[in-house]
Amino acid sequence: MTHPFANAHSHLTEVLQRLDVPDDIHARLAQPKLALEVNIPVRMDDGRLQVFKGYRVQFDDTRGPTNGGIRFHPQVTLEEVTALSFWMTIKCAVAGLPLGGANGGVAVDPKTLSRLELERLSRGYIRAIADVIGPMRDIPAPDVYTNATIMGWMADEYNQIRREQVPGVITGKPVHLGGSLGRDAATGQGALYVLQQWAQRKGLAPGRTRIAVQGFGNAGFHFARLAHEAGFRVVALSDSGGAIYAEGGLDPALIMRHKRNRRELKAMLYCDASVCEEAEHEEISNAQLLELDVEVLALAALEDQITADNAERVRAAQVLEIANGPVDSAGDAVLAQRGIPVLPDVLVNAGGVTVSYFEWVQNRTGLYWEEAEINARLKTIMEREANGIFGLADEGMGLRGAAYLQGVERIVGAIRERGTCEYFADTLAATGR
Ligand code: NAD
Repeated sequence: MTHPFANAHSHLTEVLQRLDVPDDIHARLAQPKLALEVNIPVRMDDGRLQVFKGYRVQFDDTRGPTNGGIRFHPQVTLEEVTALSFWMTIKCAVAGLPLGGANGGVAVDPKTLSRLELERLSRGYIRAIADVIGPMRDIPAPDVYTNATIMGWMADEYNQIRREQVPGVITGKPVHLGGSLGRDAATGQGALYVLQQWAQRKGLAPGRTRIAVQGFGNAGFHFARLAHEAGFRVVALSDSGGAIYAEGGLDPALIMRHKRNRRELKAMLYCDASVCEEAEHEEISNAQLLELDVEVLALAALEDQITADNAERVRAAQVLEIANGPVDSAGDAVLAQRGIPVLPDVLVNAGGVTVSYFEWVQNRTGLYWEEAEINARLKTIMEREANGIFGLADEGMGLRGAAYLQGVERIVGAIRERGTCEYFADTLAATGR
């Protein structure tokens, strides 16, 4: 497994070489603008005081206030958060949003906390980072194992600190607390818009397109549900507890109802209710799901799922990166060499940040849009940017290279406008200094 930030950054280096940019750009994008590490004391239900490590990293804000998720996961590290903040910078530029990139997280297994402990931790995290966030500075959003409820607590804590209502400080809030309609499904919806554009180009008919989806959380579930509704055949699903497969196709909404009752996908195998019979399926391992013979392998769980260890065994005709960094650079090289296109994360999952941006705009104007308007605006952006990238990729660079090129060109443009070594060197020469 590669170092997450080194892995993320290696693509940037390639693109910067291709763009032949001034040294300033390399220097600015080599590390984050701000990296904050905090220790969050939380009173546990049994009276103990436990201290959790948390992070907030703002990578680059040249194009606007930074924006990015907050992850609650035992493996959160400063390295990982930095990589995610870098991806977010590229992604906001790929989607053409006037935002920079950030990310945050707490090293915790939220499944071991009670709801009260989770609320205290969420509020404690905001108290710890309150000085560096704000609607015109850095706007957190949900990510792995954080959700709208947690965003609602966090926004409330920030309001209490500031002694005013500042809904635009956090996105992904519950709709009744200033959240945007369509935010919940936005990442999956955006990924589907991209897949549909790709399918059209490649002549993939939805009914004959089998999709395996790794990860059945916010991003994976909504993607699977919407893909099924759009006529694609979702033949396999997995979560951290296991995977299921059905050649004839699965109904993700039905499966989610079961998962909510039984808390894991594979428990469905052992139930005998009519609904299980309806969705005839077999249990497979998480590793097997990644190696299924399907048209599309959609990765919507965590990073580094396809690496040098298993890329040779991928049999999918194309890979859709809904998660951030699910294919590492070594895995990417193997897939490229085998001619398996990878639709890259910085494009595919940009629907989430795009609707977060819409939420921020709505919070700041006080004017709230209908869901149809949100989805129409999201569709326009995703299709425009996807087709731009597909067009660039046709010119001979890979899809990831094309996406990075599209995003990085915009960041480079913004940095250049503030003046680079070339610009100042010319001025100094002209004034004879
Ligand atoms: P989530 O917590 O809602 O869901 C994560 C899912 O992955 C869960 O179903 C979990 O069981 C599953 N999982 C974990 N390990 C797994 C494994 N080894 N095999 C199979 N499944 C596994 O998180 P999410 O918000 O859906 O995020 C998923 C990915 O999408 C992350 O990489 C995240 O950064 C990215 N993403 C999310 C959003 C968003 O709006 N939620 C936006 C952009 C990118």
